Parts: sequence; structure tokens; C-alpha cells
Amino acid sequence: MDLLEHRGKSLFAGAGLPVLPSRVAGSPAQAQAAAGELGLPVVVKAQVKSGGRGKAGGIRLCRAEGEVAAAAADILAMSIRGQAVTCVLVEQAVEIARELYLAISSSRAQRGPLLIFSAEGGVDIEEVARRDPGALVRTPVDPLLGLCDYQVRDVVTAATLDAEPAAPDGTPAKQSLAGVVRALWRLYLDADATLCEINPLVVTAAGEVVCLDSKVTIDDNALYRHADLKAEAEAGTEDREARARKAGLAFVALDGDIGVLGNGAGLVMSTIDQIAAAGGSAADFCDIGGGARAEVVAAALDVILSAGTVSALLVSIFGGITRCDEVARGLLQVLAQARLDVPVVVRLDGNAAGEGRALLADARLPGLTVAAGAAEAVRLAVAGAAAQACADSRRED
Ligand code: GDP
Ligand code: MN
Repeated sequence: MDLLEHRGKSLFAGAGLPVLPSRVAGSPAQAQAAAGELGLPVVVKAQVKSGGRGKAGGIRLCRAEGEVAAAAADILAMSIRGQAVTCVLVEQAVEIARELYLAISSSRAQRGPLLIFSAEGGVDIEEVARRDPGALVRTPVDPLLGLCDYQVRDVVTAATLDAEPAAPDGTPAKQSLAGVVRALWRLYLDADATLCEINPLVVTAAGEVVCLDSKVTIDDNALYRHADLKAEAEAGTEDREARARKAGLAFVALDGDIGVLGNGAGLVMSTIDQIAAAGGSAADFCDIGGGARAEVVAAALDVILSAGTVSALLVSIFGGITRCDEVARGLLQVLAQARLDVPVVVRLDGNAAGEGRALLADARLPGLTVAAGAAEAVRLAVAGAAAQACADSRRED
């Protein structure tokens, strides 16, 4: 389970990691009031479970009182990578001298925790990793030995903080950084995290080391040990992935514009690959599983389309336990309630495929195409999405 930045930061604070005073706000007025309590300048930050908020315009620095409500209003109206922004974090702003990157992640390749550090952090960390992979310190941590002092020292050395001033309380920046690395390791263990990332971890002009961002993923299999986090996961109905989980769907939001629904993880993954090979990009991974009933199909479509960024919908079913006519009924149920304004391509093969195709053909819905096979379905969906995106951009002009 991915945590929102503000939730991750409250775990950070509990683990003794340095974070700045902040408030969560759900409206421009609340944001304004929060800024009043915190004092200017503040940063207003979109709370969505996705990186790249800075580049998407979801992070705004406000120096004057009048700017806060307007920035919050703008950000609350945004949708970033298919996620509507429902709240913002208003946080005291600092003057940044250095932006570092620090993470501990469960690495499949290492079969264990991996400590990652870069002296060049910030919004372009992916670019740094591509351009100069050597700029990243990557240190496997033995789970039995735990984080060793020499590993902490390696990070501190790589950070080259000798020129930074000591903090007002006299603590050298190097020492603060060492404390952050150790505290992050403790949090990673205590929270059963699979990822604890701080980007940027900054050194301020005043020589303080502060976590400006937090990205924490908790191992779903350990949620039973974290009652408070589990309750939040179940309560977060606004969140698409949580809604999907409740409906019994395996769902992951992706960046593209072709909504994908299929049965079986392998089928859905290969469909996403085929879409990419045909020049398109998938908006989600959505597996309705085996034997799904019409209601599950309807719930899946609801979650997929709620992104609001879908230009075409591709439904690919190979019926084993799943009956294709059940899927067709679920699809028609949704289409009867709301006319979709995007092309829908359906591929039905296997169990009760004939009945399913007949149901769809009889409904004679404009915009709905029943494809002859999986490959044709992908081709039609990619072409349909391109045409739709083109029509949308003309409408906006
Ligand atoms: P992300 O783009 O989703 O990773 O969002 P971040 O929380 O990492 O913020 C993006 C960028 O906003 C950071 O790299 C900083 O450069 C900038 N930023 C965030 N907080 C502050 C702040 O308090 N002061 C200043 N000057 N910049 C900030
Ligand atoms: Mn960040």
C-alpha cells in the first residue's frame, strides 16, 4: 500500500526524521488558515500517490498571503496521472541549498533491502540515474546484520557536505545526515515497508537537514500488524486503487490513455504489452479474475473510467471459469446507465463467447466494436484512442 506524502511524513516524524510543520487542507479556505498558523512562506503540495507532482504543477511555493488560497484552488482542481487531487499539504517552506536523494527499497535483484543515495536529488533524479548511474550509491543491506556504520559513512562521504554550515544548534550537516539514514532504516523495519524514499532530502541554507518529500510503501502482507494503516486503506474510498480492492479487483493505475480490462494477470499484462507494441499506452492494469459476475465488471469499468483520461476502452476476455456472456451483461449494464463518449473494443473468446458476442451485437451500441480476436482488438483500440485524442484536442482548440 502506497501512503500519501502527509501520512508518510507523520511516520517520518514518529521515527525521529526531520520534517517541517505542516497541515492537511481540503479547501482553499482551509489552506489559507493553515498558512496563517504556519507562517509564510509555505509550499502547497498536491496529495496524490504519484511522483512527478512538481513537474505537473502540483507543488507551489507561496510567499504572499493572497497566493495560498489561489494555489490551493488550482491544485485541488487538478488531476495528476489519473488521480483527482482531494487534499493538499500546506507546509512551511525552506531555502534549499542542496537537494539529496535517499531511499531504502526492497530489491528483487538483491533479494533484500537496498540503500540508495545520490548527492544530486530533486525532480530530475530519474535523469541523473540514466545519465550517470555511477552517481548513485547502491548498497545492499544484510537484513540479519542490519545497517552497518560503514554503510552510513559511505553515504555521508558521497554527500560531500564539508562546505555546508552547521545547523543553528551546532550540529554539523554530516551528523544530521547520518542520523537520517539510521532513522530511515529503523522506519523501514518497523513499518514493514517495501519502500521508504526521501526526494528531495535537503540541506537548507541554515545548514539543517530536512525531509521535504516522503514516499512510503507498506507491504500489504504485513498490514495486519498495522491496524491504523489498514483502517485507512479500507476507509479511503476516494482512492481508485482502494475502491478496486474493495470490489475484489487487481488494479494498478498507469500513465496511458487506453483503459484495459481483462481476466487473469497474464492476459492483462500481455494485452498491455501488445498495446505498447502497437504504439499505444495503457491507462491501467485491471484484472477481474476468474468467474467474475456482471456486477464486478461494472465496478471495474467504473474504476477504470473514473480516471477521466481514457480515450478508448479495451475489454479482452478469454473465458475459462469466467463466462463471456456475464462480462457482456456487465458491460451493457454500465453502457445502459451512461453513454460512453469513447470507443469501446471488446474481444470475447472461450466460455460462452458466442452468447456474449450475440448480446453485444444485439445491443447495437454506437461506438462499441466486437473484435474478431485479441490482436485485432488491440489494433482497433490503439487506432480508436488516437482518433479520439485527436478529436479531443481539436475540440479544445
Ligand atoms: P514530487 O515532484 O512529486 O517529487 O514533489 P516534491 O515534494 O519532491 O517537490 C518537488 C520540488 O519542489 C522539490 O524538489 C523542491 O525543489 C520543491 N520544493 C518542495 N518544498 C519546497 C520548499 O519548502 N522550498 C522550496 N524552495 N522548494 C520546495
Ligand atoms: Mn519528490
